Amino acid sequence: MEQEVKAFMDQVEKRNPHEVEFLQAVQEVAETLVPFISKHKIYAGKKILSRIAEPERLISFRVCWVDDAGETQINRGYRVQMNSAIGPYKGGLRFHPTVNQSVLKFLAFEQVFKNSLTTLPMGGGKGGSDFDPKGKSDDEIMRFCHAFMTELFRHIGPYTDIPAGDIGVGAREIGFLFGMYKKLRNEFTGVLTGKGLSWGGSQIRPEATGYGAVYFTESMFKVKDQTLDEKVVLISGSGNVAIYAAEKCIQLKAKVVTMSDSSGYIYDKDGLDTEKLAFIKELKNIKRGRISAYVKVYPSAVFHPEKSPWSEQCDIAFPCATQNELLEEDARELVKNGCVCVTEGANMPCSIEAVEVLQKAKVLFAPGKASNAGGVATSGLEMTQNALRYKWTRLEVDEKLQEIMRSIHASCVEYGKEDGGYVNYVKGANIAGFVKVADAVIAQGVV
Ligand code: NDP
Repeated sequence: MEQEVKAFMDQVEKRNPHEVEFLQAVQEVAETLVPFISKHKIYAGKKILSRIAEPERLISFRVCWVDDAGETQINRGYRVQMNSAIGPYKGGLRFHPTVNQSVLKFLAFEQVFKNSLTTLPMGGGKGGSDFDPKGKSDDEIMRFCHAFMTELFRHIGPYTDIPAGDIGVGAREIGFLFGMYKKLRNEFTGVLTGKGLSWGGSQIRPEATGYGAVYFTESMFKVKDQTLDEKVVLISGSGNVAIYAAEKCIQLKAKVVTMSDSSGYIYDKDGLDTEKLAFIKELKNIKRGRISAYVKVYPSAVFHPEKSPWSEQCDIAFPCATQNELLEEDARELVKNGCVCVTEGANMPCSIEAVEVLQKAKVLFAPGKASNAGGVATSGLEMTQNALRYKWTRLEVDEKLQEIMRSIHASCVEYGKEDGGYVNYVKGANIAGFVKVADAVIAQGVV
């Protein structure tokens, strides 16, 4: 079987040379899906995985805008429309200097499986720009977002492709993007999700990815008759996903001892509480400051510059910052220090080698395509509310989110349970996500 995986990957590599992140994401999926496909006649020989690994459409465009100093700036914008077999393309926009075709193709590929797992009718896509929002004024952010949408609007729509936020794209950016789309199309539709509550947004959408990752973790512990009460938790990042993962952990009485950003991490031996988290929310979302400022206000905490938190003792680790932020050595440290669960809040934060170390040590390991699907699932709920011209309450959306996360967990267990009872959540998520898309691909013929 290793030979078959290699042969498949050789072909993908030939078509996508140098796209390191994309090849990593496809390899991770191929290792479980190639054996599954060859055992199931209805899928074998139809090149379904090869078709899913080829974007249906890849749009790249120039974005010109003028900064506060009057200088013309040029960035590159993208939208990867990966697969629409089970619904319109759906996936976030990322604004970060590391954005390129490979990163967005990896994210769009993952999104196809993730969206399928949510049980909602959404295909997979992703987009963004190499624009760096750090240090930009609100006016510059607005001008960039408007310039970006003057091209993107041609390619998206409520029945075609519905973008949302991701790294560097939060409520402020979605507002500016929506404003320009509405002006250009002269229609008020649910073309973007993550909108403000007073103009079509859903309750719980900002919280959904972080909350969802914690709900998924609760389900993993429930299988072992345990709760998150008093569990020691490491979280990386201090953005949207990290903040709300921390909030839900605190509500469930777990002890969150770290948060980070790209400059380093803080360790608070007493654990975060609601007040400390409110400080981080204001620091990151309003003041747009650095996490190191935490130790000035809470001096019993320590700031570790240029480091990630994985060498600290913990029960659970939530990598919630970015791809490949938890490597093989970090995984070894976590195992050595007694970590029993790693839940990916970010997309592909753990390298393939790190995942191998964790699974070998029988650590509960939740891949992002399952555990961080709560965000896109709630975006799906936002789309439904927009289409119905109706609004569900906070409680109603939260209940639906919890139900979706439980259902994703159940699907992973169904396809991922191994002899001896260990659940391989990677295998479970890949197969459960694949089956629904593959059935639709077959039903629709070669298109
Ligand atoms: P944000 O922009 O809100 O936050 C990103 C956080 O990660 C920041 O704290 C940032 O620090 C940190 N970070 C970024 N790059 C690095 C790096 N190279 N090293 C260390 N830290 C870094 O993004 P989100 O919280 O929305 O997204 C985080 C992850 O979750 C991404 O992988 C995203 O794809 C994934 N995700 C997000 C969803 C959502 O609903 N938002 C849904 C599903 C997945 P700094 O401020 O210093 O840059």
